[in-house]
Order: sequence, then C-alpha cells, then structure tokens
Amino acid sequence: MASTKVKALVIEAKDSKEKDKQVTLYSLEEGKLYVYFKGVRGDKAKMKAGKEIFTFGEFVVEEGKANNIVTEANIIDSFLPLRENLDKYYEACSCIDILKKISNTSDPVLFLETIKTLKAISYDNSPKYYALIKYLLSIFKNMGYNLDFNTCSSCHAKLTGKKYLNLDYGEIVCANCRRATSVEVKNEALSAMKLILNTDYDRLHTLKLGGNGEVKALNILSENFEWRFNTSFFME
Ligand SMILES: [Zn+2]
Repeated sequence: MASTKVKALVIEAKDSKEKDKQVTLYSLEEGKLYVYFKGVRGDKAKMKAGKEIFTFGEFVVEEGKANNIVTEANIIDSFLPLRENLDKYYEACSCIDILKKISNTSDPVLFLETIKTLKAISYDNSPKYYALIKYLLSIFKNMGYNLDFNTCSSCHAKLTGKKYLNLDYGEIVCANCRRATSVEVKNEALSAMKLILNTDYDRLHTLKLGGNGEVKALNILSENFEWRFNTSFFME
C-alpha cells in the first residue's frame, strides 16, 4: 500500500459508522483528498483532534483498497479561538466554504492565503469581515482579475465620480463605460477594499474603516464571486 505525507487543512468532517470520521482535506501537495479517520470518535482516541474542521496539520494517508485512511496526524495549528467565538467561527466557515467551492486541485497560493486568513481571524483580532474581504480579493487576483481602484479598466480614464463593477468582466469601470451588468461600487466600499488589499493580514486590526465600508465591500465581492463561480458562499 502506498502512503503519502501531506500538509493539509480539514475542510469537512462527517460521522461515519460507529467510530469513524469521513474527512475532506485540502492539501498543499494534492488539493482535495477524501479520507477516513478510523476509530477517532472515542474520548481516548489517539488522533481525536486531527479530524476537526479548521485543523491544519501534517497527515499520513494510506491508500486502501476502497478508501484512503489517515494513519498519522500531527497538528500544526488547530486555530482554537475559531471554536470559541461565534463571529470568528462564522467568518472562518465562509472562508472554508469559498475554498471548497473554488478548488479541487493543488494551488499553493490559495493554500497559503487560506492559512493566513484563518490566522488573522483566529489570533490577530482582525475586525469582522476584514480578513474575508482580503481573502476574496486575493482569490480574484490569483485568477487574473486585478481590481484597479484608480483607473477605469475599459477606457483607462482616472476614476472620479461614480464607479461600477462590471460583473461580466469582474473589473471596475467609470460611469461612461458602465453596462447593464454593472453595479455601483460606493466610495466606502472602494476605499475599504483598497485599504484592506494594501494591508498585511496581521495588520488588519490597525485599520479603521468608515460608513460600513466592509459590509458594502463584502456585498460587492460576493456578487462578483457569484458571477465568477456560478455559486454563492456561506455567510452568516
Ligand atoms: Zn471608462
């Protein structure tokens, strides 16, 4: 039987049979992996903590006849604060749901961004939604949609007055270049995205955004997400 060691994040965990767990890992090396943890639901089970959602660790996966079995789990970070605060928990759930929906294959950039996002929510007290907004912006950037907040992506004029997101192309345009599929991006949302994009994850807690900018930014980004991926993501 072949066995592989992967660095991975637990993104889904379901009960299976009496004491097993059916787990989806998102691994740095191979993307999504469907695995089983055997006999881990007892209180004294050796790998008990390794199977919980949000757990980041090193896993040894044995390829079985029918299923892949995890035979070893070394936890790197279990992001404990996510389990103790409902706001943090829900924001992390949004992040994981996004990851689940956009990628099956290995993507080191996406993997790293996910870990950074969970860290910022968990330990750096990044205000509600800031890390999630940065995560979404980085995903679009990783796909080649580089949101330019200063120039119209169509006529390249400097953006003044009203700004719009062209949902067909996932880019920001001026009033002259707006189409039926463009939605207005309020200035509060635009400056929230700009500031968040230019701030490191572990410094997000130093930002002060006004006028509910983060809520408006998140609404625009989730609309953009729906157009790009034909699906929405979980939001509390
Ligand atoms: Zn224009």
